[in-house]
Amino acid sequence: MNKTKNAVLNFTEEISKSNTDEAQKVWKNCIQIIKDHIGGLSFKTWFEPIIPTDFSNDTLTVKIPNDFSWEYIEVHYNTLIKKALLHSIGDKAKLVYIIDDKIKNEPEKIIGHELKVKTFNQLSTQEKSIDVDAAIFETHLNEKFSFDNFIKGEGNQLARAAAYAVANSPGGTSFNPLFIYGGVGLGKTHLIQAVGNAVLKNNKAKRVLYTTAEKFTMEYVDSIKKNSTNEFSSFYRKVDVLIIDDIQFFALKEATTDTFFHIFNSLHQLGKQIILSSDKPPKSLSGLDERLISRFHWGLSVDIQPPDLETRIAILLKKCESFGLEINSEIIEYISSNITNNIRELEGCLVKILALASLEGKEITLELAKEVVKSIATDRKFSITVEQIQKIVSQYFEIPEDMLRSKTKKQEFVQARQIAMYFCKKFTNASLKTIGLHFGGRDHSTVIHSIQSVEEMLTEDKFISIINSIQRKIEISS
Ligand code: ADP
Ligand code: MG
Repeated sequence: MNKTKNAVLNFTEEISKSNTDEAQKVWKNCIQIIKDHIGGLSFKTWFEPIIPTDFSNDTLTVKIPNDFSWEYIEVHYNTLIKKALLHSIGDKAKLVYIIDDKIKNEPEKIIGHELKVKTFNQLSTQEKSIDVDAAIFETHLNEKFSFDNFIKGEGNQLARAAAYAVANSPGGTSFNPLFIYGGVGLGKTHLIQAVGNAVLKNNKAKRVLYTTAEKFTMEYVDSIKKNSTNEFSSFYRKVDVLIIDDIQFFALKEATTDTFFHIFNSLHQLGKQIILSSDKPPKSLSGLDERLISRFHWGLSVDIQPPDLETRIAILLKKCESFGLEINSEIIEYISSNITNNIRELEGCLVKILALASLEGKEITLELAKEVVKSIATDRKFSITVEQIQKIVSQYFEIPEDMLRSKTKKQEFVQARQIAMYFCKKFTNASLKTIGLHFGGRDHSTVIHSIQSVEEMLTEDKFISIINSIQRKIEISS
């Protein structure tokens, strides 16, 4: 190598070194300001891991550990960072993030107004070894739920990013447990199962187990009967990634939650990943053991909000694509403007349109779409029967269904019976007389009295939460 070349190289090295020094100086100024505005723990979690790497032309480049940190900072600290940059660099300041993400491989993308994000491509070597035990381990995951077919939107962005971070490093992030909450049909089950599927894709040897709180409870009750509670617990303690859906179902089930509490602790201690979903945030899970709720705060709880119009359109288009279907944009827009709160209904609508069109040989027109949207709104109210409501309510309170129809006046049965009647009135077309007949031949005045009792109790927080949980169950099954 000749001398000139060497000199040029040294010169460039020196420039880049001075850029790094400069970057450190500027970043130090910035974090001084940031530090003054946020709590110590937040600072440690989100800002300490950031490394300044370059500063030139008013542009500061920093390296950030993963996508999730970036998204979190973007959502929560954007304004603060802008302020810090303005103060330390001036109004031409720009910030470039480099995301050092081991698995992701995305081309450079521009996000937000002035923030530029790069992702390094460092695919991790995937473990190929299959442990025999794990190979026969039944995961109960549905493979159709993946990150690829989960459409990203404003309402689910953070939850998705957290789930993605966990999927790439189960047990290895501070998001343990990862607690995802939100209303019915917004993608909780999809997302938490996507984590399970992704973990297995990266490493087949991982024991991933998906279950619902309801199933967990049934199995536990069953193990009591069979005298095998020890086996039950030790089975769950062997799992690497435990995914439990709809944990609001645990409310008021003391023995089951106690067992879950111990399983939770032991998995957490071993650095195993726990992922939970619920229809409400941890703090609103009344009827659940306080100790357990405080454990949920160890990790990260993040919500999913109803999708905005754009996301709804994107979801419908994706669905059409998977059906190999072309529907004109006017119809897509009509459906997504009229079904707004529930992605399951959005999909259901499309399936129904498709079914009608193919079974009855109808063309897919705007009129047909309108008809189906209207029928979905009506179905919402009337698709459930008295029997189904009785089943849901008795399962919720863990009492035999017969007790709803019996004459017994034991308080716990009376209350369950009243609640069941209340929902029959609310969600079915049945008259008071018919409802009474279904509840052991009571007359209509008893039904009225029951409904009134429930309505009166609807001022107590704890009771509201029970009613809401049951209502969600009814809505899901209708
Ligand atoms: P939840 O568990 O919150 O009630 P689900 O996960 O069962 O909701 O979602 C309902 C339906 O909507 C599922 O078929 C799911 O695949 C679909 N879905 C939800 N969110 C999305 C999304 N962001 N992109 C694509 N499909 C979605
Ligand atoms: Mg669900």
